[in-house]
Amino acid sequence: MSVRVRFAPSPTGLLHIGGARTALYCHLFAKANGGSFILRIEDTDLERSKREYEEAMVEDLKWCGLEWHEGPGKGGDFGPYRQSERTEIYKGLAEQLVSEGKAYPCFLTNDELEELTEKAKSENKAPHIYHDKYRDLDPAEAQKRVAAGETHVIRFKNPNKKVTFTDLVRGEVTFPEDMVGDFVIMRSNGMPVYNFCCVIDDWKMEMTHVMRAEEHLNNTVRQLLIYEAFGAKAPEFAHCSLLVGEDRQKLSKRHGATSVVQYKDQHFLPQALMNYLCLLGWSHPEEKDIWDLDEIVSLFDLTRFSKSPALYDIEKLKHFNGEHMRRLSTKDLVSYLKPTLSENHPFHSQSEQWQETCLEFFKEKINTPQELPEHLDVLFSTTPSESEESKEVASWETTPQIKEYVTSEVKRLADEGAEFVSVEAFNEMTNHCKKELKIKGKFLFKGLRLALTGMAEGPDLKVVIPLTPMAVMKSRLAL
Ligand code: GLU
Repeated sequence: MSVRVRFAPSPTGLLHIGGARTALYCHLFAKANGGSFILRIEDTDLERSKREYEEAMVEDLKWCGLEWHEGPGKGGDFGPYRQSERTEIYKGLAEQLVSEGKAYPCFLTNDELEELTEKAKSENKAPHIYHDKYRDLDPAEAQKRVAAGETHVIRFKNPNKKVTFTDLVRGEVTFPEDMVGDFVIMRSNGMPVYNFCCVIDDWKMEMTHVMRAEEHLNNTVRQLLIYEAFGAKAPEFAHCSLLVGEDRQKLSKRHGATSVVQYKDQHFLPQALMNYLCLLGWSHPEEKDIWDLDEIVSLFDLTRFSKSPALYDIEKLKHFNGEHMRRLSTKDLVSYLKPTLSENHPFHSQSEQWQETCLEFFKEKINTPQELPEHLDVLFSTTPSESEESKEVASWETTPQIKEYVTSEVKRLADEGAEFVSVEAFNEMTNHCKKELKIKGKFLFKGLRLALTGMAEGPDLKVVIPLTPMAVMKSRLAL
C-alpha cells in the first residue's frame, strides 16, 4: 500500500513554525516513499475557523515549498478536503455508532455537567468520571427525546480498557483505562469534535501514517478507541517532539516570531527555514547540517527522530539563512537581497555588474538581509565615524598628509571622468604614500582608510574603494 500522509491544520490562526515543521516531515516522508501528501483543513470549530486563515496557510505552505498532491482547491479521489464540507459523513457514522450501541445521546445540561465535574474533583476522581449518566438510558427512550428536539451531544461509550500502541517516535505508549471516559464525539450543534472527524477522515482518506506534534499524543487514545469501534485499521502514528523556547516551555508568541509569515516578511530564505526546522527533531545520518530538501529526500526516514524537545533558536536560524544565501548563484543572490533594500537606497542606481560584485563580497559578512544596509555604509556613507579609534587615527600627524595627497589624486581622477577609483589607482596611491611620504604600517593603512572611507575600521580597501561611487568619494574629501 502506498504511503499517504496528511497535514491537517485548523485554520484558526496563522501557520505556526511548529505546524510548518509537521507539514515538512509529512511532505518529506511522502516524497521519500513515493507516496502522497494531502492537505486537509480541519475547520469544524465554526467560531474560530476563518477562510482568510486557510488562504494564508495555503500561501505560507507554498512559500515553504511544501506542495501537496490532494487538498482543497486541488482535488483528489478522497475529497472534499475541508471538514466543514463533510459533516454529513460524520453524522452518518455517529448515528451508526449509536445504532450499534457504541455511542449514545447525552442530555446533560452545561450546569449539570459542571456540577458533576466539581463533584468528581472534590472526590479526587478524574473530572469525567460522572459524565456517563445517560450511558445506560434505554435507547428507545433516548431516541424519543432526540426526536422531540431535546438538546444533546453524542458521547462515545468507552469500553474502559487499557490502550497500548507503538508510536514510531516514542515507542510503546500505554494509556490507563480511566483516562478519557465517555467523551463527546458530536457537539449539540451537530458538529463533530476533532477526535471524531480526524479518525473518520484519516480512515476514509486511507492515511497510512499520521505524523503530528507530541501535544496530540493524548488524543491518540480517543482516536484508537474510535477506530476499534468501527473495526477500522488505525494508521501508524509518529508524534514528533515539541518545539520549545529557551525557558524550555512550548514555543509561543512570547518567544518571538512564531508564524511562518513573520519569517517571510523578514526575508528569510524558505529553504533555510525548512532546513533548520527539519533538524529540530530529526537528524541527518551523516550529521550534515546544511542541505536543500531535495538532497535529503532519499535519506529521510522515521528512525532518526528525537524524543526530546527541540530548542528553537533564532540565532541558529540566522546562521542557516547565511549558509543558504551563500549557496545562491550570483544572479539569485542579487534577486534575493536587492528587494530587501529600501527603494531609495543608492545601491539601486549602480550597474548590474557592480551589484553582483558588491553582494558577492558582502554575503560573507552577513547572515540576514537586515544586516546588509549597515555594511553598505562603507560604500555610501558621507558622514565620518566618530569612534574613539577614528579620533585617534585623525590625531596622528601622518593622517592629514595622507588626506591631502589622496584628495588631490581623487580630484585628478574625477576630473578625468573616472566613475570609481580603480584598484590600480588605489594601489598607486598606497605606493606613493609608502615611498614618497614614507608612511608605513598601521599609520599608512588606517590613515588611508580614514581618508577614503571616513572610518577607522572596515572591510578590505582593495574591494571597497573600487566599489565606492566617485560622488561619494568627492563628498568625503570635500571636493
Ligand atoms: N487540526 C489539528 C491541529 O491543527 C490536527 C492534528 C492532527 O494532525 O491530527 O492541531
